[in-house]
Amino acid sequence: MIEYTYTNHIKLSDSIRNIVESNKILSPSKEICVSSTYTQLSEISASALETYFQCPLKYFFNYVLKLKDPISSDIEMLDIGNILHDLAYKYYLRKDRLTLDIHSFCHTTIHQIIENDEKLQQHINNPILINLIAEAERLITHLRNLDANSKFMPTYFEKAFGSNRSFPALQLTDNVSLKGKVDRIDIFEDYFRIIDYKSGNADATLAELYYGKKLQLFLYGLAIANATGKKLSGTFYLPIKNVLEKADNNENIYKLIGFYTDDSDLASAYDINIQTNLKSDYVNMSLKKDGTLSKKSDKVLSPAEIDRLLQYSKNISIQALNEICLGIFKASPLKFSNIQNACTYCPYLSLCSKHSNDICFRDVRKVNKDSFLGDENE
Ligand code: SF4
Repeated sequence: MIEYTYTNHIKLSDSIRNIVESNKILSPSKEICVSSTYTQLSEISASALETYFQCPLKYFFNYVLKLKDPISSDIEMLDIGNILHDLAYKYYLRKDRLTLDIHSFCHTTIHQIIENDEKLQQHINNPILINLIAEAERLITHLRNLDANSKFMPTYFEKAFGSNRSFPALQLTDNVSLKGKVDRIDIFEDYFRIIDYKSGNADATLAELYYGKKLQLFLYGLAIANATGKKLSGTFYLPIKNVLEKADNNENIYKLIGFYTDDSDLASAYDINIQTNLKSDYVNMSLKKDGTLSKKSDKVLSPAEIDRLLQYSKNISIQALNEICLGIFKASPLKFSNIQNACTYCPYLSLCSKHSNDICFRDVRKVNKDSFLGDENE
C-alpha cells in the first residue's frame, strides 16, 4: 500500500477534505464537483493537461488534492534522467563546448551534480552512478556530432515561457494560460525545432496526440512560434538513456524522434549528409532515391498538417480546461490495449482498486493521418 501525503488546497470542498483527512477512499465512479468556483487556476502545464486526458480522476488526485508519492531513497530512473538532463544543459552553457575534453567535462560535471544533491550524495559509490560517466560521455559525444552535422543552431536552453518569463505564456482561455520550459530550441533561418530530452518512452504517436495523452510537443511548438515569430519545422524527443544500452543494427540510440515538415531542404538542414546517405544518423528520417522525404511514417507532415495539429492541441486543451474549471473529475482512464491502460502505472491504483468495477475505461481507436487530419484540401 502506497502512503500519501496531503497538502491543503484552498478550493477543496469540505466533503472532499473530510474524505481525504479521514483516509476514506473516494469512490472512483463518482463525478466529483470540487467547487463550481474552481476558477482561480491561472496557469497550467502541458503535463497536467496530459494527465487530465489520461484520466480526469488522476488529475484530481495529483493536481487538486496534491497527493504525492513519498520520495524514494533509492536511485531511480528519474534521478538518472535528471542527472543527464542537467549535464546536457551545463554542456550548452560552455562557450568552449566544441573543443572541450568530453571525458574530463563529464567526469567533473557528474561529480558536481552528485555533490550538490543531498539524496545523490548518499549513493556516491553506487555502481549505477559510477557507470553513468560512460553513458554521459556517449550522450555528450552524440550532442556534439548532432550539432556538427546540422544547420540548425542550438539557441535556447531550458527556455521558460509563462507569466513573468522572458517568453510569454500561451493564452488558452481568457483566464488560463499555458506555462512550460523547453529543453532546447534550435533555429535555422525562419524555422525552429523543439528538442525535449526524454527518459522513458520517448515517442509520440498521432493516436496519443488525438487522445490528448501526448500534447507537449505541439503545445510547446505553438508557444515558441508565438514567442519567436518563426515557423515550427519539427518537434522531437531526444531519448535519454540510463544504461549503456546496445543499439540494434548499429542504430544511434539518441536519434531524434518526432514530427517534422515534409521538406527535403529542411531535411538537409537537419542532417547535412542525408542527401548522400539517404538515411539520417541523427533524426528518425530517410529520403527516397529521388531525394524527396520518405513518407512511410505518419510523422512526416505538410505545413498545413503541422498547423492543424498545433491548433488541435490548443483546442482540446481548452476543452479540458473548461471541464477542470467545472470540477469534472471522473474515473475514466484511457485504455490503449487489453494489456495497457492509464491505471497500469498509476500511483493512485491503491485508492481506486476496490472500485475497479465502477471505472469506465475509454477505448482508444486506431488513428492514422487520414482519419485524423483527412484531406487538407477539404
Ligand atoms: S487508478 Fe485508474 S481510475 Fe484511478 S486515478 Fe489512476 S488512472 Fe484513474
